[in-house]
Amino acid sequence: MALIPQIIAGNWKMNLTLTQGRRFIDSLASGLVGKKLERKLLLAPNFTLLSGLIQGCADIGVGLMAQNCAYQEAGAFTGETSVAMLKDAGAAYVLVGHSERRQLFGENDDLLQQKAQAVAAGGLVPIFCVGETLEQRQGGEAFAIVSNQLRSGLNRFPCEKLIVAYEPVWAIGTGQTATSEDARLMHAHIRKFLEIQFSWGEMVPILYGGSAKPGNAAELLAQPEVNGLLVGGASLDPESFLQIALA
Ligand code: PEP
Repeated sequence: MALIPQIIAGNWKMNLTLTQGRRFIDSLASGLVGKKLERKLLLAPNFTLLSGLIQGCADIGVGLMAQNCAYQEAGAFTGETSVAMLKDAGAAYVLVGHSERRQLFGENDDLLQQKAQAVAAGGLVPIFCVGETLEQRQGGEAFAIVSNQLRSGLNRFPCEKLIVAYEPVWAIGTGQTATSEDARLMHAHIRKFLEIQFSWGEMVPILYGGSAKPGNAAELLAQPEVNGLLVGGASLDPESFLQIALA
């Protein structure tokens, strides 16, 4: 079994201006002084903040993620942002298929497969998000839904430079977290899927996301195959983000 270093990734969504983002990084930097951090930290600010935060993040070893991307390389796609542009602005990772993109912006499996491949082709790492709705979980379909999302989204994915995030839709932004047992079972399922599908499947970090916070981070992070957390709301406050990182 590969030893995968844990990752704590914050998704700021459509929050924080550049000034507020810089204040966050300053405060995180102060909080990290004298702390022995064994986990890798990543942050996904809005595109408009990436180039303004890259130096401050690099100074404290925090990696930058973009929240979305276009799969097209360039051209007449008003309002879209290519992988090359995100790389140029400082992103090293890109969230692909966050449930808000799937649900609010109609992103489907075919589109997400193209995005994941475009991210890899551009030399960045996709964080490919999967997860079932409450209705699907209650209908006993959670494992099948997640398998289907992985099968379609990662079809022919070329290499091990990939992170998967399991984010049950009913737990995102609701304050309702999956139990550690739910997370353990689904992460084991995802790991098995990746190992069967890809020769490098055991190398892929699998993050849990859905109302992770300082009070539940340690228990979630202690589950086998939970290689880190994707954190929304609790990543907007440097103090709680740091507490999760140190949990
Ligand atoms: C997310 O947006 O990826 C997320 C997990 O949000 P929250 O932590 O607020 O549930």
